[in-house]
Amino acid sequence: MIVVLKPNISKKDESAVTKEIRKLGYIPHVMRGVERTVIGAIGDERTHHTLETLTAWPQVESVMPVQKRYKLVSRDAHKGNSTVKVNDRVTLGGKKFHVMAGPCSVESEKQLMTTATAVAKAGATILRGGAFKPRTSPYEFQGLGEKGLKMLDKARRETGLAVITELLSEDHAEMVGEYTDIIQIGARNAQNFQLLIAAAKTGKPVLLKRGLSMRIEEWLLAGEYIVANENPNLMFCERGIRTFETYTRNTLDLSTIPIIKKESHCPIIIDPSQGAGRADLVVAMCKGAAAMGADSLLIEVHPNPAEAWSDGAQQLSIEGFAKLMQELEPFVAASGREVAWK
Ligand code: PEP
Ligand code: MN
Repeated sequence: MIVVLKPNISKKDESAVTKEIRKLGYIPHVMRGVERTVIGAIGDERTHHTLETLTAWPQVESVMPVQKRYKLVSRDAHKGNSTVKVNDRVTLGGKKFHVMAGPCSVESEKQLMTTATAVAKAGATILRGGAFKPRTSPYEFQGLGEKGLKMLDKARRETGLAVITELLSEDHAEMVGEYTDIIQIGARNAQNFQLLIAAAKTGKPVLLKRGLSMRIEEWLLAGEYIVANENPNLMFCERGIRTFETYTRNTLDLSTIPIIKKESHCPIIIDPSQGAGRADLVVAMCKGAAAMGADSLLIEVHPNPAEAWSDGAQQLSIEGFAKLMQELEPFVAASGREVAWK
C-alpha cells in the first residue's frame, strides 16, 4: 500500500505512522520529497490487516492499495484458461463452444420436455430452467421447487443434456446439488456470501451471475468466495447491469468479456436474455458475445413465449433458437473456437 502524508509533517508524526505500519505487519519504506513524504508499505495486502484505518489519522492524506484484492480467481494464480468439466460430453472454457438453453422457469413436464428435446436437436448441450425463481414481487410465480428439479432430472436422463438451475437458499444447497450439473447463483444473490459458500461446498460447478449494480471487482471477489471454498469450477456470467437506459431491461456489458479474460482464468458466459430483456435483440447479442470470446451463452427458450409464466418478452421461440444456432458458427470461429454441435 502507498501511504501519502500531509505536507510538512513533523518527524514525530511521521514515525508514529511508520510504527503503526510495522505493527500491522508491513515493512515501511519512507520516500521524502520536498514538501511531502510518501511511505510504501511492503507486505501482502490480502493476508495482512488493511492499512485503510490510517486514513483517519490527522497526518495522513490518503492510503492507496497497489495489489488486487482477489487472488485465486486472478490470472496471476493460473496463467492458462481454466476449463470446467460439466459431464463426459461437456467441458466449458475450452476449444468447443457449448450453448445452454431452456425456459426461464420450469412450468410443466410438457413445457420442459418440449423445450429440452428441441434445444438438444438444435445443438444445445446444457438445459437451463429455474425451479426456484427470484421474483421481484411475491405475487409472481415462484417456481415449482423440488417438483421442477425432478422434471429437470427427467429431462436430463431422457435427452442426455446437462442441467443448470438456480440455487436460491442455503437450505436447498444439498437438494439442488443432487439434481443439477451446474449451480446458478442469480444476480440478486451474487453477494449473498453464505449462499456462495454453500454453493461451493456442493462441489458442483458454479455459474455466478453479475449482480444488478455490481462492479467487476466486487464480482471477482464474490467469485473468490467460491474458489477459496475449495471449488475451482467457477464461471462468471454477465447478464446486464442496471443503468438509466429504458430501451433494454438491463445494459448487457460485453466489455466484461475481455476484462474477465484479462483479470481471471475462469470462463465467462453471456446471458443475453436477462441482459437485453427483449427477444428481438438476443440473436445480435449472442453473435457479438461469441465473436468477442465468451465461453458460452445462456439463452432463454420457450415453446410459447407469449404464454410464459416468467420473462415472456425475452425468451426465444424454438424456431428462433434453431435459426440462431445455425447462424452462430462464423461468430464462434471468429474467436478461435469450434461449435460443439457440428
Ligand atoms: C434467470 O436466469 O432466469 C434469472 C432470474 O437470472 P438473473 O439472476 O440474472 O436475473
Ligand atoms: Mn429469466
